[in-house]
Amino acid sequence: MPQTYVLDASAFIYGMFPGGELVTPPKVYAEVKDEASALKLEMLTGLAVREPEIRHVEEVKKEARETGDIMRLSPSDVDLLALAAEERAAGKDVAILSDDYAVQNVARKMGLAILPLHQKRIKYKIVWEKRCIGCNRTFPEGDVCPVCGSPLKLRKRSAKR
Ligand SMILES: [Zn+2]
Repeated sequence: MPQTYVLDASAFIYGMFPGGELVTPPKVYAEVKDEASALKLEMLTGLAVREPEIRHVEEVKKEARETGDIMRLSPSDVDLLALAAEERAAGKDVAILSDDYAVQNVARKMGLAILPLHQKRIKYKIVWEKRCIGCNRTFPEGDVCPVCGSPLKLRKRSAKR
């Protein structure tokens, strides 16, 4: 059982609070504190709202660029993942509570435990890539092929974990 849980906005909305240490970044907290979950937040006396260190934010961005999820991650998502990476670096047994597909995908890439709230666990790692319609080369991002100048189209590829 993880000792620390990093909470996504959906975890607050669904009211899923397992026992243990609960942490969330300020951006996620700001999203939910005015919502219907305000009451539940008040009950969460053990909740720590903490900004992740910049080096972990950079680490998450790097990993998300590699999986092609960078464009799908909101600043809150990046902070969420960064906070989980930080907790793990501090020696904690940590799990992220999130239903967000891109968050799950990047967490998997980083080897971070994730507990989905509603969706089924994904068995395959989804890799997003931009494929050139001219020369068929693939790139992690961009709109125009740097090799032949043709447009790049977003494609989803599944890779076995
Ligand atoms: Zn090309």
